[in-house]
Amino acid sequence: MKKIYFDHSATTPVDEKVIEVMIHFLREGYGNASSFESDNMAILGAARELSVKGKHIITSQLEHHAVLHTCQQLEKEGFKITYIKPDQFGMIQPQDVAKAITNETILISIMHANNEVGTINPINEIGEIAQEKKVLFHTDAVQSFGKLPINLAKFPVDMLTMSGHKIYGPKGTGILYVRQGIKLKQVLFGGAHEKNRRPGTENIPGIIGLAKAVEICSKSAAEEDKIKALRDKFYQNIINKIPRVRLNGHPENRLAGLLNLTFEGIEGEALLLSLDLKGVAASSGSACTSGAVEPSHVLLSMGVKPEFAQSSIRFSLGRSNTMEDVEYTSEILVEIVERLRQMSPFG
Ligand SMILES: *Cc1c(COP(=O)(O)O)cnc(C)c1O
Repeated sequence: MKKIYFDHSATTPVDEKVIEVMIHFLREGYGNASSFESDNMAILGAARELSVKGKHIITSQLEHHAVLHTCQQLEKEGFKITYIKPDQFGMIQPQDVAKAITNETILISIMHANNEVGTINPINEIGEIAQEKKVLFHTDAVQSFGKLPINLAKFPVDMLTMSGHKIYGPKGTGILYVRQGIKLKQVLFGGAHEKNRRPGTENIPGIIGLAKAVEICSKSAAEEDKIKALRDKFYQNIINKIPRVRLNGHPENRLAGLLNLTFEGIEGEALLLSLDLKGVAASSGSACTSGAVEPSHVLLSMGVKPEFAQSSIRFSLGRSNTMEDVEYTSEILVEIVERLRQMSPFG
């Protein structure tokens, strides 16, 4: 039967060409874009809801800008923020969190795993401290979700953020998990979607894509072992052939794919450019700050010297990588590092 649609003011059918570019976008267009909504909603929403109880928030110096910039906004609104300094491996010590708690503390936000060095924080211990002191606890699990086992029945967090495009899903999608009974002040206005939590018609293709991406992650736990083996081989190749290389981040307690290295005497940006010319994409600092010349705030917070921070790059391995990638890249790195060190005045 022929269908007649007379409701174009409510919504319009998606044009075939639009569907085509979306499919193409999902397949080919996986460069970075950003949507800080989940971290924003969690932190702004909780802080503003609880501001009658107190105005103190605890976070860390090596959070993603999604969290740090949100906290800076709250400082402008009169909140006091304590930024915990990590140890030399980029790990937040639970006792430092415990010490920072005051009667005024309403929220703790500490990331699960760091996006630049991969270090995994002791979320269980920090969560227990938060529970004991009856302080709300949020974790940015964007990097760990789908990679580390997270069982929300046991994981002592009140709120958790993840992002679709970090787990092979579509950009602009994510999940903010909020434990039952927790109220957040509305952050964005102009609609009553998702039980009045946010405006904007839901991004259904995005949500479907996100659900599929989560489902795939839940079935591919073995991938992480494979990725870790590649990463470790890559690191061994590099330190066997290239002198004066330092590993940033925790030697064991870090994400399987992460390898953040300092090549002493070389500008990280120059190294990235040379790699790019050979078809290898890596990054310096976090993707969100590359282009800016300041050294990574994460490495500085760990006590890495500024000149070493400037000489650091991040390789993050994933499902698409193979042993050939590792062998090829370690070989060209040897040549590139040698050449750049010869050119450098302090090489
Ligand atoms: C990428 C990232 C974000 C931001 O997620 P987007 O969806 O890109 O906005 C937040 N936190 C961490 C740790 C990240 O790696």
